[in-house]
Amino acid sequence: MIHFVGAGPGAPDLITLRGAKLLGEADCVIYAGSLVNPALLDLTREGCLCYNSAEMTLEEVLSVMKEMEGAGKTTVRLHTGDPSVYGAIREQMDALEAENIAYDTVPGVSSFCGAAAALGEEYTLPGVSQSVILTRIAGRTPVPEGERLELLATHGASMVLFLSAGMLPQVQAALLEGAYTEDTPAALVYKATWPEERLLRCTVGTLAQRGAEAEINKTALVLVGEFLSHSQEGYQRSKLYDPSFTTGYRKGTAP
Ligand code: SAH
Repeated sequence: MIHFVGAGPGAPDLITLRGAKLLGEADCVIYAGSLVNPALLDLTREGCLCYNSAEMTLEEVLSVMKEMEGAGKTTVRLHTGDPSVYGAIREQMDALEAENIAYDTVPGVSSFCGAAAALGEEYTLPGVSQSVILTRIAGRTPVPEGERLELLATHGASMVLFLSAGMLPQVQAALLEGAYTEDTPAALVYKATWPEERLLRCTVGTLAQRGAEAEINKTALVLVGEFLSHSQEGYQRSKLYDPSFTTGYRKGTAP
């Protein structure tokens, strides 16, 4: 059996209980070493075989999985954050299905959640934004035409950019072609929840310059949107906790 497990954003105690249990029981762990905190490997039992997939091809990863499966062993494939977000798990799952190898997935805390927590922010403020766009700028991996950053930026929604910290000038230019302005709040979050975490608050207009000054060009997320502005007047109170509002669980004061 292969278990795809979300490692969480970095801090080792942000893996789920289920993920930690599977790590502790595994005969083999294949971890995404470029982003997974190696401290998580301390949870493995003695004798567990650990492979760093940063140094492997898909074929090599699959070959280890098949070998383990043939020997009746259990493998954990450890991906950073949540495996379903830029995890490249579909190609692994398809190959396993073709070989009739059983697998399941344990979700994880994605880095975009870790970044909001680190900053003390909420993406979905009533009256400000009720959507979060998770995306990236096109790089060596292309992005479908309809998802070009300039187009997604026209919504002015809360936005999180993965895999884009190495292209901040292009990110900034694309954002400014949409609904964001030079003054729209932005943040660069480096290694959220790791000991070396860095939080850089800026604006869309200063994003590229601040990133260059701080020498941040990888393992970082770009957050954009008015949700970062902390203006008390800028958003509406929630209906859910409004005394006048009746819900399925609570009678409100309004007639
Ligand atoms: N599955 C992961 C994303 C993998 S893509 C998740 O759910 O978070 C890799 C990109 O994620 C990096 O280039 C970076 O943009 C972002 N990332 C991953 N971990 C991060 C962290 N702790 N802090 C900031 N960005 C992170």
